[in-house]
Amino acid sequence: MYERKAFYIDGRWTDPIAPGNVIEVFNPATEQVIGFVPSGTAEDVDAAVAAARRAFDPLISVAERRRRVDRIIEATQRHLPAIADLITAEMGAPRRIAHGVQTRVPLAVAQGIASVLDEFEFSERIGNSLVTREPYGVVGAITPWNYPLYQVIAKLVPAIAAGCTVVLKPSNEAPLSVFAFFDALDEAELPPGVVNLVSGPGSVVGEAIAGHPDVDLVSFTGSTGAGRRVAELAGRAVSKVTLELGGKSANVILEDADLGTAVKVGVGNALLNGGQTCMAWTRMLVPQSRYGEALELVETAVARYTVGDPTDPATRLGPSACASQFETVRGFIDRARGDGARLLTGGSERIGDTGYYLAPTVFADVDPMSEIAQEEVFGPVLVVIPFTDDDDAVRIANCTPYGLSGAVWAGTDERAIDVACRVRTGQLDINGGPYNPLAPFGGYKQSGFGRELGRFGFEEYLQTRSLQLPL
Ligand code: NAP
Repeated sequence: MYERKAFYIDGRWTDPIAPGNVIEVFNPATEQVIGFVPSGTAEDVDAAVAAARRAFDPLISVAERRRRVDRIIEATQRHLPAIADLITAEMGAPRRIAHGVQTRVPLAVAQGIASVLDEFEFSERIGNSLVTREPYGVVGAITPWNYPLYQVIAKLVPAIAAGCTVVLKPSNEAPLSVFAFFDALDEAELPPGVVNLVSGPGSVVGEAIAGHPDVDLVSFTGSTGAGRRVAELAGRAVSKVTLELGGKSANVILEDADLGTAVKVGVGNALLNGGQTCMAWTRMLVPQSRYGEALELVETAVARYTVGDPTDPATRLGPSACASQFETVRGFIDRARGDGARLLTGGSERIGDTGYYLAPTVFADVDPMSEIAQEEVFGPVLVVIPFTDDDDAVRIANCTPYGLSGAVWAGTDERAIDVACRVRTGQLDINGGPYNPLAPFGGYKQSGFGRELGRFGFEEYLQTRSLQLPL
């Protein structure tokens, strides 16, 4: 049992102001309670924000920021295997995902930020003005459960590199790995108050951070619904807000593409982390002329996804991360069948007696405007939609309220880029171009605003000042 009884405030583990309230953490594979963390109040947030404010030094040197980032990276590296195991235990990511993308990518993101800091120009001359880039101030960060360490590092490390201080609220569903990360931060011996952790319900602790008058910047990742509320509260406090929200991304496979590769990679992307990835390509768009061939390839690719115990190294698809997500996904599947989508494989039946297991599920002949093609499911569910020509593919790709990610496959990169430029989304992979932890990541439309990662992510945590010099 992992029992965490204290928040991390002002450089030490600190008892809650009103102790006793806890959040139970469940293992979605066993449905058993595996630990708990304290459930905070607005007063705990006040204490954390006050510590972060005291620790904020607007004149902090770049060398000191770099030292802090280095110490965070060093300490995190030592804790990565333990953090990975906790991620498997608390949200069901298969072992190979937990020890791979869930923990190695955040490290690459942090190292990328260190390199950005080394090269960044903090001042420039514009005419008679000296324009400088200053740390934004106290950052309130609110994160989801799907990639618990990644989401935290993608905010905290650039914030620290920019000279900010941070108050973080992790998701209630997967807080243990974040507490373990703060054990690493404790070893990193940052000055007291630079990083602070308060757990608790979004409606209490999250809202207290989002609307706090002494938080300068709120960085939120989560659902579009919660993001809307966070933006409202930050707006009232006139705090800057960045929102990384949901997605319903399209994998556009044009007629002259290598269909076999595009389908295989597309299925892998849609099912990564149990389909609980904001940037997942959950809509596969295929030319009508190659639709039958594509469906066969999809079925073959999906059949390779072994569902089971996430601690088993052979498992590729673990359980849904929690009971509520499991029921949400099942509801989407049942309603899609009711809406007339053709179930190619999978379904809403629970696999086994214990654990929130579902088979990878694919729907064909899906109306692009139906719920299953419009709404983010956040589970192992893919829809395959036919299109008539490039214009029709672009129209369908753009027909959801989201614009987070996607892919275009074509006979040449130039042709794929031409089509990609017509899709209103924050990032697209061209003919299988790999993830780049230095490239800006963020949404168009209801997928949010603001960018994370690399230089663009770093710049979100900087304020701009102009000094007009005498002529
Ligand atoms: P969520 O329910 O919106 O929760 C995200 C975080 O916000 C949690 O810490 C949650 O607290 C907190 N929260 C909830 N309501 C709040 C409120 N009224 N005020 C302040 N904070 C509040 O999302 P989730 O289910 O954890 O994560 C899945 C969603 O995140 C999906 O929509 C996914 O697409 C999105 N996501 C987006 C990105 C991206 O970069 N664009 C990346 C990953 C995930 P609790 O602990 O109480 O839940």
